[in-house]
Amino acid sequence: MNALAATNRNFQRAARILGLDSKLEMSLLIPFREIKVECTIPKDDGTLVSYVGFRIQHDNARGPMKGGIRYHPEVDPDEVNALAQLMTWKTAVADIPYGGAKGGIGCNPRDLSISELERLTRVFTQKIHDLIGIQRDVPAPDMGTNAQTMAWMLDEYSKFHGHSPAVVTGKPIDLGGSLGREAATGLGVVYATEALFAEHGKTIADHTFVIQGFGNVGTWAAKCVHERGGKVIAVSDVTGAIKNPNGIDIPALLQHKQDDGNLKDFPGADTMDPDELLVHECDVLMPCALGGVINKENAADVKAKYIIEAANHPTDPEADEILSKKGVVILPDIYANAGGVTVSYFEWVQNIQGFMWDEEKVNHELKKYMTKAFRDIKSMCKVHNCDLRMGAFTLGVNRVARATLLRGWEA
Ligand code: GLU
Repeated sequence: MNALAATNRNFQRAARILGLDSKLEMSLLIPFREIKVECTIPKDDGTLVSYVGFRIQHDNARGPMKGGIRYHPEVDPDEVNALAQLMTWKTAVADIPYGGAKGGIGCNPRDLSISELERLTRVFTQKIHDLIGIQRDVPAPDMGTNAQTMAWMLDEYSKFHGHSPAVVTGKPIDLGGSLGREAATGLGVVYATEALFAEHGKTIADHTFVIQGFGNVGTWAAKCVHERGGKVIAVSDVTGAIKNPNGIDIPALLQHKQDDGNLKDFPGADTMDPDELLVHECDVLMPCALGGVINKENAADVKAKYIIEAANHPTDPEADEILSKKGVVILPDIYANAGGVTVSYFEWVQNIQGFMWDEEKVNHELKKYMTKAFRDIKSMCKVHNCDLRMGAFTLGVNRVARATLLRGWEA
C-alpha cells in the first residue's frame, strides 16, 4: 500500500473513532500548501542536471509547520504528503506547538559530491525561502540530509531575510544547534520503549533487539539500548546485515562503521540475509530506515513481540492487522520517533531565547515529554478501547481538530 493511502487510512479510522464532522475531517486531510520546484545545478564537470524538490505544508493550526527535508531517490509527492501529515499528528502527540510539513528532493545523495550537494541545497532554499520562516515553517534534517545541509539552508535563507538561526533546526552547534539534537531521535525511541516496558515492570536490559537501518536513528538507538544492558543481536544497513546471538559489541561496531563505512566485514558478527533480519527471532524489532518494510508479505513471519517504529510508517495497515492478531505490540511512529522533533523544538526555543541549555537539561526535558506523551496515548487507548497506533492517532488528531475549531472557519 502506498504511504499516502496508508496514512490516510489511519487518519480516517481515528476521525471515525473521534466522531469528527466530515467537513472538518476533509479539511484536516488536505494539505495547507504543496510546493514543487525545479532545481537545476551545474555538476562538478560543468554539465547541468535538474532535480525536483518538494515542500508540503500539511497543517498549521497548532503553530508553525515543522518537519524534515529528505534527499532520497524514492522521494515523490505522495510520500512527502504522507510524511507531512504524519508530522502534524506527531507534533500534536508530543504536545509541542507546531503543525506539520515535510520536504525532499528526488536524488541519491551518495552520487553527489559535497559541492554538488551544497549547490542543490542552496538552489532549493532559494526556491522556497519566501514560504518558510521562524513562525511559518521550520525545516530540519531527515534521511539523506544532516546538520551541514541545515547550515547551507540557514546561510542561503539569511541572505534574503537576515541572520535567522531558528529558521531551521538540527543545525551544527556552532551555528546555534542544540546539544543532544544529533542523538535525540534514537534516544527518544529508547525513552519511548522504556515507558512501554515500565508498564510491565520490565527494562531494556530484559530484552533482545534487532535494528534495521544504521543511519542517524539506528546508530543512536543501538548505542542507547547497549548502554542500558539490552542485547542487540542483529543489525542491518544498505551494505548488508549481521547477527550475533550473544549480542553485538555496539561501540566496536560503531568504530568499525566509522573506519570501514560498512557493516558486513565486522569481525564480531556473522553476515545474514537482510530480508531475514525483519523476521529474525528477537523480543524487539526496531525498523529505523524506510517506510513500508513490514507488509502483508512478511508480517505473518515476524517473530518479535514488540515493534518500535523508529522509522516513519514502516508498517503498512495490512501488516498491522496481521500483527495485531498475533498479539505483537506496536509502538507507532508518530510517538516512537517524536524525540527528534521534540529536541528540534528545544533548539528553536533556545534560538528564540538566545540562551543555550546544557545536554543534561535537553535530555531531561526530552524524557519528560516522551513519558507524558505515552501516558496521554494510554488514556486515549482506554477511552476508545483501541491499540497504541489508534491511541496515538486519536490523541494527535483530536488536539489538531480542537485547535482548528477554536480558530474558527470565517474567511
Ligand atoms: N525528520 C525528523 C522527523 O521525521 C525530525 C523533524 C524535525 O525535527 O522537524 O520527525
